[in-house]
Amino acid sequence: MVILASSWTPGASGAGLNEYPLDVTRYTLTIEPDIDKGFIDGTLIINFHVDPKAKSIVLDAGNLNVHEVTGNNVAAFSKNQNKLHIELSGRTQKENEIIIKYDGNPQNGLQFHSETGEAYTVYFTSQWMVSHDSFHDRASLHLNILVPKGKKCIASGELIGTGKRGDKTLFQWRQTYETPSYTYGFALGDFNEASDQVGNIKLNYYSSRLSGEVLKKVFVETGNILQFFEQKSGVSYIQNSYSQILIGRHYQEMSGLSVLHASYASSVLKDSSEIHLTSHELAHQWWGNMITCKNLDHFWLNEAFAVYMASAFNEHKFGVEKYNSDIALYKSIYDDLVERNKDKPLVFTGWEASRDNRHVVYYKGAYVLHLLRQELGDAAFWAGIKSYSQEYFGKSVETIDFQQAMEKSTGTDLDDFFRKWVYEK
Ligand SMILES: [Zn+2]
Repeated sequence: MVILASSWTPGASGAGLNEYPLDVTRYTLTIEPDIDKGFIDGTLIINFHVDPKAKSIVLDAGNLNVHEVTGNNVAAFSKNQNKLHIELSGRTQKENEIIIKYDGNPQNGLQFHSETGEAYTVYFTSQWMVSHDSFHDRASLHLNILVPKGKKCIASGELIGTGKRGDKTLFQWRQTYETPSYTYGFALGDFNEASDQVGNIKLNYYSSRLSGEVLKKVFVETGNILQFFEQKSGVSYIQNSYSQILIGRHYQEMSGLSVLHASYASSVLKDSSEIHLTSHELAHQWWGNMITCKNLDHFWLNEAFAVYMASAFNEHKFGVEKYNSDIALYKSIYDDLVERNKDKPLVFTGWEASRDNRHVVYYKGAYVLHLLRQELGDAAFWAGIKSYSQEYFGKSVETIDFQQAMEKSTGTDLDDFFRKWVYEK
């Protein structure tokens, strides 16, 4: 994601109150958004594992109204601020299935634009779907979305079918691979669309304002970027489609799709090398969605990687001068932090607390990856990135995992480098 000053919503470090580790395996949600009323109605089935000794579980539920929780072992439930406490009884199995009915007017997390007839999700999922917001609990998702007839709906995973339901259309999306809940989402509206194909992967572009022809121009590099990240990570893109939607005022990656600010197209059309944000959000399909920081103290492993990989693509596509000018920008942001005594180690608590802290995570982090590449040399650095990405694809990571993967791959002791640039300042 790219956090704009006005769009940050605090919260979201996971339920954190579970006595025994909670492992959700699948969410199955049927949701009906009402764009004019900014309202949603949802029925959610959660399949999860928890130690049979656990007497309760805690889920995140934003400001949603939960009116029913049922299941074989559900004894009672209560909502306390943004937490949903569910008491369990008489269990011998780790496997559980519960059904939750809820509704509400999400204030954040789901953006409604009644003037354009659009809606889309951003950070954070529990504001529109009861979920376990932990960064290290990965689950698959079945998302069934009911939208007014004629509207299009793009969501996490792949579209497996659509059907008529009265005056609505039901879109059925399936994400078969597991990711943390913050990567789930959808967008709906009266979109024009265009598509390209790269190998077996269909690239879809949507906007309610721009024509298909213009969309193709804006996103012309997507296939090249995707192939570049496949090569650098050594891991194929995870599914058969990737969608980009120009909508609203956010930049947000989700599983298999990204939303980009509605005005983003104009800067790309003015200067075709201004595609950093296309690259940034697409990079998260590897670094972020599939290789995920275990908690937000290590958020630079998501965001600095996305920033840096976008610059690495710029170098590949436009030459070293473009790369150097990106790095000079990141260094100047870092120098400014140091000068104002706002610098921090890359691993720290409270990245969301200020713009300066966010700059540490995004831009100092990207600058440090550049320095690491200088330290190791191109061949060793990229071999290390590939080895790290392959080893941890589909897993959650801390900074030590990255350091050790780079050390193992390159045969270099990086203690001094990581102490100086990552753990200390
Ligand atoms: Zn990002």
